[in-house]
Amino acid sequence: MAEPKKQHHAFEAEVDQLLHLVAHSLYSHKEIFLRELISNAADALDRLRFEALSDDGLYEGNSDLGIRIEADEGARTLTISDNGIGMSRAEVTDNIGTIARSGTRAFLRSLGEEKQSEVSQIGQFGVGFYSAFIVADRVTLVTRRAGGKQGTCWESDGRGGYDISWVNSAPRGTSVTLHLKEDESEFLEDYRLREIVKRYSDHTPFPIRLQSRDDKGQPTGDWDTANQATALWMRPKKELSDEDYCEFYPHVAHDPNPPLAWTHHRVEGRNEYSLLLYLPSKAPFDLADPDPQHGVKLYVQRVFILDEPDKLMPRYLRFVRGVVDSSDLPLNISRELLQNNRTLDTIRSACVRRVLDLLENLSSSQEEVYAEFWEEFGRVLKEGVIEDIGNQARILKLSRFHSTQADEDTPKVTLDGYIGRMQDGQEKIYFLTIDSLSAARRSPHLEVFRQRGIEVLLMTDPVDEWAMDWVREYEGKSFQSIAKGELDLPGAESKEKSGEEPDGDPLCARIQEALGDEVEAVRRSSRLTDSPSCLVRGEHDLSPAMRELMRRQGQILPKPKLVLEINPDHMLLQRMQADEGRFSEWARWLLDQAILADGGALDDPGGFVGRMNALLASSPDPESGEAEA
Ligand code: ADP
Repeated sequence: MAEPKKQHHAFEAEVDQLLHLVAHSLYSHKEIFLRELISNAADALDRLRFEALSDDGLYEGNSDLGIRIEADEGARTLTISDNGIGMSRAEVTDNIGTIARSGTRAFLRSLGEEKQSEVSQIGQFGVGFYSAFIVADRVTLVTRRAGGKQGTCWESDGRGGYDISWVNSAPRGTSVTLHLKEDESEFLEDYRLREIVKRYSDHTPFPIRLQSRDDKGQPTGDWDTANQATALWMRPKKELSDEDYCEFYPHVAHDPNPPLAWTHHRVEGRNEYSLLLYLPSKAPFDLADPDPQHGVKLYVQRVFILDEPDKLMPRYLRFVRGVVDSSDLPLNISRELLQNNRTLDTIRSACVRRVLDLLENLSSSQEEVYAEFWEEFGRVLKEGVIEDIGNQARILKLSRFHSTQADEDTPKVTLDGYIGRMQDGQEKIYFLTIDSLSAARRSPHLEVFRQRGIEVLLMTDPVDEWAMDWVREYEGKSFQSIAKGELDLPGAESKEKSGEEPDGDPLCARIQEALGDEVEAVRRSSRLTDSPSCLVRGEHDLSPAMRELMRRQGQILPKPKLVLEINPDHMLLQRMQADEGRFSEWARWLLDQAILADGGALDDPGGFVGRMNALLASSPDPESGEAEA
């Protein structure tokens, strides 16, 4: 039978331009061509499945739908074939080689006029069928529409135009043969192809088959499936068991530990997408890194698009793993376009909402599991009070704190619990940010609170101080650092008021005079019961730990405005006042010991030790009974 006549067609100008870009751009991920062709094949299978719903004759007796990938080393070709819907000759000319039906036009259009220049970066993007020309210098496509008689062959070297001809006995569906460029031999190698299929198309819901190989790497004539072939997240929740979710987790999370919990939803309506999000049970090694390697993967119609943590989750939820699969985003969406995509914004806030819902559920119904979560990830979640003001209240509600009233049963408390325990007339939530729990236990700032039984939250994470600076209130209650500013305790006739005018207090005035500009002010304390003195910072001054951190980062900080509070009833202050000759040494010692108790470092530790020893050496002999004087 004579070879049917070939017809030559010229490409549309835009296609020609695009193909030139595709063939000549530098690619960091050339292998995406395979993802694109597999995705086209999967679409064709989906469409056949759909059309066969009303006409199962379209199956032509074969409903085992799948994709095959076959490398021919001798011919240096790679063929991707499907037994899907296929194309008629008219569809081929409409779809391939023109820009009209291709995602390419939408892609060009979506760049917008002002962004024309970005077309030059097209090499970074998937470009559907045309991406075959990244690795091939000639592409042959043979296709026959399901139910059709004759097939069509389309062939092009990607320059100027294509040839089209009839084919008499073509199988149903489409096969695309890439004649690989000289330096693209890697795409003939079995292991490389399997690796790419695994990476990008593991959950393409059709089997992707490669030829089985024997020990010597020779094809055996059989085919085996290289992907999992199920998109777990697309399956209805009620069909899935906990085991299914747990089995799937490592594929998506790169985490060998079992997941702690998950949330799975299919959203329909204006935006259609599925999400399956997991909470890991263990923090990954790079949790502290604000730009981790993995996050929530974005799929479009079951095709893997990207795994860039900050695209789908805000930083404070960077520990979340899983999949979002959108039906609305274009498959060849670029990274740039993802930045300002409204569909993606909607999905992103839905993801945040779902994760917070999951955490709330966990915290109310499985307190112990939630406690485990908080130990691993609480310090990251807390960053959200700054990063996501809109969800601040929800995040605060989810937060757990050490407290002066925590005990073995409830090692950490909630803000709601705190509010429930507030004393009559107490307006504020009191907290102390401090280096460690052991330092907190000895902090002079806590003395009066302990004495009066008022609860104080103890915050020991570096992020706490920074975060608390942003938080104004929770459930109508404001927050008060007990180490900053002035205290107004419930029902107290404030002793401090008198301290507001240090000039009016001769003892304070003398100490102030002795210390010069080392301190901003000296006043009588309403905080202290057992300690002789303590330091109080201005409302917005930083703690010593925070100052040290910033100093190491090379920041120059203004001298903090420190107030020295004294406890005139303390035995040592009584003694100080009786020891006129060394009043200024006593004053200096009062300041130094307050700095130390505050977790600060002394400029002159040797001087402190010397003064301290001198004061101790001269302390009256207890046997003389003077100590009580
Ligand atoms: P997109 O897939 O974004 O529409 P492509 O350039 O990849 O753009 O493909 C253009 C069109 O060609 C597709 O929309 C589809 O109609 C058709 N097509 C491509 N590959 C196949 C295939 N394997 N089977 C059937 N039709 C296909």
